[in-house]
Amino acid sequence: MIVMKASRRVIPGAAAGAAAIGLIATLAGCSPGSSGPDDGKVHAIASFYPLQYITQRVGGSHVDVTSLTKPGVEPHDLELSPRQTGSLIDADLVVYLKGLQPAVDEAVRQTHPEHVVQASRYAPLEKHGTEVNGVDGHTEPAPGDHSEEAAGDPHIWLDPVRLAKVVDGVRKELSATDPEHAAAYRANAGKLDKDLGALDKQYRDGLSGLKNRTFITSHAAFGYLAERYRLDEVSINGVDPESEPSPAHLAGLQRTARREHVTTIFFEALVSPKTARTLADDLHLKTAVLDPIEGVKDPSRNDYFSIMRQNLTNLRTALESS
Ligand SMILES: [Zn+2]
Repeated sequence: MIVMKASRRVIPGAAAGAAAIGLIATLAGCSPGSSGPDDGKVHAIASFYPLQYITQRVGGSHVDVTSLTKPGVEPHDLELSPRQTGSLIDADLVVYLKGLQPAVDEAVRQTHPEHVVQASRYAPLEKHGTEVNGVDGHTEPAPGDHSEEAAGDPHIWLDPVRLAKVVDGVRKELSATDPEHAAAYRANAGKLDKDLGALDKQYRDGLSGLKNRTFITSHAAFGYLAERYRLDEVSINGVDPESEPSPAHLAGLQRTARREHVTTIFFEALVSPKTARTLADDLHLKTAVLDPIEGVKDPSRNDYFSIMRQNLTNLRTALESS
């Protein structure tokens, strides 16, 4: 069995945590805080792009959402400044996904925000990535990565059906935070839910009847999507985008690619395509982008839905031509 080691950085220890709490208390006491001007809006903080997007859609004009992960930044190994951690204290609502970003999990533990949406409470994490078509993409939690969620695949947003459950969680907590606009939040969430349902149908229709079901990706972000639409994802890097595949794992990928008549090696926008390109060159295959929507470079040009539809097109092209 090939086991790939994750190289995730370890969160600060207990001493560093205690020091951070002191600093946070100072910041919260003397800064104007992130609540900003008293504009009557709910000030929400989301941990990364997909949660920022759905909170914006549900909140509409009554909510101002900022993201802890800046546009174009890969979120897995995000580090927070003390000021960012302190900003959680002043936020009216915090939306995050436990198990994706250890620094954010720690910041929420330290600051105890009053209104929190923890996404996997609404769409529980599953384990993925073991023994796909004879290639073992299993990733072990790094030493020190002691949360129970470390074993679960965090990429729930790439399954529209699971994301719809998180949307309902955001609606509920937003309505508890700001009951006055509960009707607006219900209407906005209903519209988003409909859009996600239409996207799900596009995927089901678009991927049905394709003979080839196997696709190769950089990191194992598409497990829930593969499960939903009965595809097989084989990953180069496991769950962690920064881990390096072993020569044995690469050899296994080459065998799978030949056996399953794979035409395309997918890489992604925010991670170096070097390994994907090398593998594709060795096997004389094409490369294409499959975006895990972890961070979006320019959210005014591309949003969750436009990227999901582009992913569907790219998946179809790769699977049809095999
Ligand atoms: Zn990921």
